[in-house]
Amino acid sequence: MRSHLLNDTTAERYRRSVTEGVERVAAKLATTDRPFTGVTVDALTPRVEKIDLDQPLGDTTAALDELEEVYLRDAVYFHHPRYLAHLNCPVVIPAVLGEAVLSAVNSSLDTWDQSAGGTLIERKLIDWTAERIGLGPAADGVFTSGGTQSNLQALLLAREEAKVDDTARLRIFASEVSHFSVKKSAKLLGLGPDSVVSIPCDQNKRMHTLALAHELERCVREGLVPMAVVATAGTTDFGSIDPLPEIAELCAQYGTWMHVDAAYGCGLLVSRARRDLLDGIERADSVTVDYHKSFFQPVSSSAVLVRDAATLRHATYHADYLNPRRMVQERIPNQVDKSLQTTRRFDALKLWMTLRVMGADGIGELFDEVCDLAAEGWKLLAADPRFDVVVQPQLSTLVFRCIPASVTDPAEIDRCNLYARKALFASGDAIVAGTKVGGRHYLKFTLLNPETTVADIAAVLDLIAGHAEQYLGESLDRAS
Ligand SMILES: *Cc1c(COP(=O)(O)O)cnc(C)c1O
Repeated sequence: MRSHLLNDTTAERYRRSVTEGVERVAAKLATTDRPFTGVTVDALTPRVEKIDLDQPLGDTTAALDELEEVYLRDAVYFHHPRYLAHLNCPVVIPAVLGEAVLSAVNSSLDTWDQSAGGTLIERKLIDWTAERIGLGPAADGVFTSGGTQSNLQALLLAREEAKVDDTARLRIFASEVSHFSVKKSAKLLGLGPDSVVSIPCDQNKRMHTLALAHELERCVREGLVPMAVVATAGTTDFGSIDPLPEIAELCAQYGTWMHVDAAYGCGLLVSRARRDLLDGIERADSVTVDYHKSFFQPVSSSAVLVRDAATLRHATYHADYLNPRRMVQERIPNQVDKSLQTTRRFDALKLWMTLRVMGADGIGELFDEVCDLAAEGWKLLAADPRFDVVVQPQLSTLVFRCIPASVTDPAEIDRCNLYARKALFASGDAIVAGTKVGGRHYLKFTLLNPETTVADIAAVLDLIAGHAEQYLGESLDRAS
């Protein structure tokens, strides 16, 4: 069994094994003609169930053959131009290379004595990101597992900085289309069930700052404490960007922590054409960025940045066996002092390889391409009487629905759109997402693949319209 350990004597097995896996994936990527096979849960479950984990195959080729059956054949492939559903991106090759290196070396970024150069690479990327944001000389931050964890950590710091013992008095303000991790964080942080105040949006799904001003005023009048405002720079559903300068102004006025959730919109940090959409972000106290959304990085790759490094002390605990207090005096950089995690992947290496091979402008160009594509897609939808489109996109998201001319019952329109999405998924021809707007069912394209063309969008719209027609035909049959 020792021959399976990766070490000085097994280089040849390592090379063969990984190469075999890489070859399989490369062949798969080259031959997938649809983002999904349309396999059902019922068809796939028994294939996984029947595998006896106590009977190893003992052989890489056999294990890969089996993996083909249970995973590779029916995986959902984000690199396919007709995968248009969630905030998943196709990944860039330098990042995948980084992934291969980091898992083989297996550094853990909690302490210097488990990562050395890795710690410095992560720190440099944090500084680079903070500088792109414009957070100033005292900024710092740390890589996290994702936007959810980044938001949690930011709100933990905000709670501590509020310096209020009675946490029931704390309030967080976020728009009605902010990410649900804000509410989850509030719960984990022990805040009350009413602690997150939902602020309405304007017709472009951006936080209504007049409503925010009103709620802040009311909060203080009622003797409560405005702990944080979460501005979203790129909402998950619409890609809308809250008015950051106005929100910064209000935060300054009320002495409130400003958190910018740029999990999606962070790609603008490297865009030459659209960086101005983030103006005002430099006034944030903390910022969430998900490189695994708009920097074309593999999951996970995310960070939380803060204006004032000292605020990260709220996540600092010392253990004699790991990061004793004296190491701070010795100036040994232990990233665990800033992180909610302990053992932690060297995800930063993926972004490092990306910047060293492609450069920031290269990533920004890819993100600009998908934003341009969304603008084209919007024109297509706005001119098409079969569809109703919600907001003109600021980033790369389109929310729309079929409005069949023959149907007036809103519940029937809902069913028609739900059916079309399901039928499309089952066909595997394309994958789109769904959401609700004003209580009604809508469909959603999240465009993050520069390989997707306007022709792809048009073709997928035709497919959706076709499934919708089929539903209406069957619905007529049912009625008669
Ligand atoms: C995706 C997303 C998150 C959560 O990020 P994960 O990486 O999925 O944990 C938070 N906020 C916004 C706006 C998002 O789009």
